[in-house]
Amino acid sequence: MVIKWCGRFHETWIGHSPLDVVSWHGNYCPCKYDLRTYSPVGAILFDHPDPSIFTVLTAPSGQERTANIDFVLPHGPDRDAFEHATSGALKPEKFDETMSFMFETRFPQHLTEYAAREARGLLDAGGTFAEPRLNGFIARGRAEWGRIRAALTALLAEGATGELPLLPLAQARMYLPIRVTEFTDFYASRSHAFNVGMLFRGPENALPPQWTHMPIGYNGRASSVVVSGTAITRPMGQVRGPDGPVWAPSGRLDLELELGAIVGADSPMGTRLSVEDAEAMIFGYVLLNDWSARDVQAWEYQPLGPFQSKALGTTISPWIVTVAALEPFRCAGAPRSNPLLPYLHEERPGFFDLTVGWSMNGQPMARTNYNVMYYSSAQQLAHHTESGCPMRVGDLLGSGTISGPARDQTGALLEMTENGKAPVMVNGAPRTFIEDGDEIALFAEARGEGYRIGFGPCTGRILPAKA
Ligand code: MN
Repeated sequence: MVIKWCGRFHETWIGHSPLDVVSWHGNYCPCKYDLRTYSPVGAILFDHPDPSIFTVLTAPSGQERTANIDFVLPHGPDRDAFEHATSGALKPEKFDETMSFMFETRFPQHLTEYAAREARGLLDAGGTFAEPRLNGFIARGRAEWGRIRAALTALLAEGATGELPLLPLAQARMYLPIRVTEFTDFYASRSHAFNVGMLFRGPENALPPQWTHMPIGYNGRASSVVVSGTAITRPMGQVRGPDGPVWAPSGRLDLELELGAIVGADSPMGTRLSVEDAEAMIFGYVLLNDWSARDVQAWEYQPLGPFQSKALGTTISPWIVTVAALEPFRCAGAPRSNPLLPYLHEERPGFFDLTVGWSMNGQPMARTNYNVMYYSSAQQLAHHTESGCPMRVGDLLGSGTISGPARDQTGALLEMTENGKAPVMVNGAPRTFIEDGDEIALFAEARGEGYRIGFGPCTGRILPAKA
């Protein structure tokens, strides 16, 4: 890709389209734009003497004949493109393999702070810090993770003389740290699996027979993973009613307190990973709230597992805590009921001593430790590749709900309220599931000698359903 910017040409090689967009020929939804700010115009501005380029929306600036931003389509300098665009039928049409719209703005772009640091030679991450997500950096490999971590630590150390440009956290806007490639969620706390199984299937069938032998998971949605602070809309869904199914706003909206492991390397199709190899591939961890519509889940989940009940949204924290930072907190997990098959055998403990918990509208609700889990992320990742399934940088693995045995250690309201039968008091009012306007916040921390590692916020507020 070659771009002209501030009077100079810049060239880079990228293996994909620079536009993560889908667009259609024609503008059929002008109401999507605030037309007090944008005025649709016909064709061709003076700086584009090409009849096949149309400015469809422009936001005028205070300077005459200069727009703040122009939204331009379609793009194609040839006669065919012009004919096609002006004489075609007025219906949505998908354009493939072409640039289908572009923006122009009079404001110059500005470097991000990370890019500035790289430019000043303080950090060299091969240009990946100028990208909006960390996938490019993560793909540079484990040795680079360590090198950059050491360089950053030195720059931030007390008494360091580097000219690191720092921004107060309160002024920073946090974004999704990675482009989530795919999302898989597991079911790895024995207390959670037993409690939930009991509610859905009774005590005899609570823990499925395979549960102590393999990590149970399902393939979730990467497209609905959002960063902390993003509002979540209560989903509509099909739920069981007294006289058959009804379509209604979910009445049993819940959270799930989890950690998310970020896969940091690709594995080719047909390759099975050992637990040891899998462990070396994990870049780090985020907090993860796997929002769940329990009434939808109860009706839909057999025999293929959760579908729409889990697709409504998954919130993650914007900070990834690296495995290297967590290394001093490595510890054993829950005791095993039976030996695992050799491919799941761990040479060393794969869990971390992390206090985790959640609050509702500011009131602490539960607190437990990540070390209650039965399967580590490395075991889950190894199991994921048992079939030869390829894994890729940016794959997100949900740990499964983290719940201890006691009521104030549960990572979901389903367990805490026994599926709504035993309400809990939140700021003086009884609650069974999440109501509109409620805000759920997760937390996790590790405490070392004289220091603490936090995970940053993982919050989400529930908006009313769109009926
Ligand atoms: Mn989950």
